[in-house]
Amino acid sequence: MSTFTCAFLLVLGTLCATPLLAVSTWVESAQNEDSEFPIHNLPYGVFSTTNDPAPRVGVAIGNEVLDLRACAEEGLIAVDSEIMHALRQPTLNAFMALGPAAWHAVRGELLALLDVKNTSLRDDAVLRERLLLSQSSVSMHLPARIGDYTDFYTCREHAYNCGKVFRPENPLVPAFRHLPMAYHGRASSVVISGTDVIRPWGQVKPPEQEPVHIPTGRLDYEMEMGVFVGTGNAQGAPIAIEDAREHLFGLVILNDWSARDIQKWEIAPLGPFNSKNFATSISPWIVTLDALEPYRVVGPPRQEGDPDTLSYLVGGESMAFDVTVEVFLRSETMREQGLEPVQISRSNLKNLYWTIAQMLTQHSVAGCNLQPGDLFGSGTISGEPQETRGCLLEHSLPGMQKNQLPDGSVRGFLQDGDEVIMRAYAQKEGLPKIGFGECRGIVLPAVERTQNRQQAAVSGAKEF
Ligand code: CA
Repeated sequence: MSTFTCAFLLVLGTLCATPLLAVSTWVESAQNEDSEFPIHNLPYGVFSTTNDPAPRVGVAIGNEVLDLRACAEEGLIAVDSEIMHALRQPTLNAFMALGPAAWHAVRGELLALLDVKNTSLRDDAVLRERLLLSQSSVSMHLPARIGDYTDFYTCREHAYNCGKVFRPENPLVPAFRHLPMAYHGRASSVVISGTDVIRPWGQVKPPEQEPVHIPTGRLDYEMEMGVFVGTGNAQGAPIAIEDAREHLFGLVILNDWSARDIQKWEIAPLGPFNSKNFATSISPWIVTLDALEPYRVVGPPRQEGDPDTLSYLVGGESMAFDVTVEVFLRSETMREQGLEPVQISRSNLKNLYWTIAQMLTQHSVAGCNLQPGDLFGSGTISGEPQETRGCLLEHSLPGMQKNQLPDGSVRGFLQDGDEVIMRAYAQKEGLPKIGFGECRGIVLPAVERTQNRQQAAVSGAKEF
């Protein structure tokens, strides 16, 4: 980062941070204490309506969505032609590519437009009705065209707990504490919150038997945060850790659905394949790093005996954030009985062994080119006590209790009809709560496959 850029960001950070606390908005629903989308948040998403089915960029404010394309076209926010062009696209990729100066400029314009003292939209009922829409009346879409998706593995407790299942002799692999580990995932099957997930078929090997092709009997979720890349880098030109922040656009909630029985058989030596490539769900609103700045913490955590980190992964601002993540479950029966989802776990993003800046730097260090709209999974966010464990596999280990649901059933792994709901928020004394909304999906039964029916009948989808 240049000295000029550093100075610019420092000044901007000071300008944004201090007065922002006192900012209030004329959008009444955003003034509610419980609102996840106060004026301090302003997350970006892509939406459409029945009347206008063209996907377009919007910002969440209270219970509403502000149509950003229309705001720019109506001249309500003053932006240059490059930003105007980017805001008229059906995805956020072009806006992400413009970098921090453009992101700060639009955020500044939005803070001014929505400020309680600004009358330009507040007092124009016709315009307001057209530009400010109820979130319940719109359909959300993937916020970006995701070129590549990479799933990291950066939580020490998750790595250790899962390692005990897949590699009991060596649960925490030696490289874990030296580099942010990852595998390249599948971008085509990333879906928006609310999309149903069909139980996948896959090859499974029961103990002492030959492999069989059956619907997974060990369907699981993984509670992660997704990281959207803003500006990319040229191939062969790695991103230095000091510059990482300028390339990071924002965060969403991410559910890395996983089929544990398929994973166990296929994973060695190359990593997950069919066990994870069938679906990944994300929440629709991207919370920017500007919004998360007050919740940035010193990190990442280290314990006595941890090795020194190589210098290319050290430096710049800590990109660790105090974000609470929660997982809720609701069975089909609970839905029928009108019962609320029950909380299964709660953990925090700041617990990860590696920060999102270290993930970004590691991803590009060999010369890999990242592109605007690329997506990272943070890795399952977990902990040691059962109530902090971010996937059911970790709830199934020795010493854990089976999760008891209010409808009287117990959960080992996910059953058909189960709905997984993930929520996340940042909260701090004296500051407003910044929410991420939610990421939800219902498990549908595996599709019938005539050629597999006989085999499935013999093997069943029972857990083993
Ligand atoms: Ca994962």
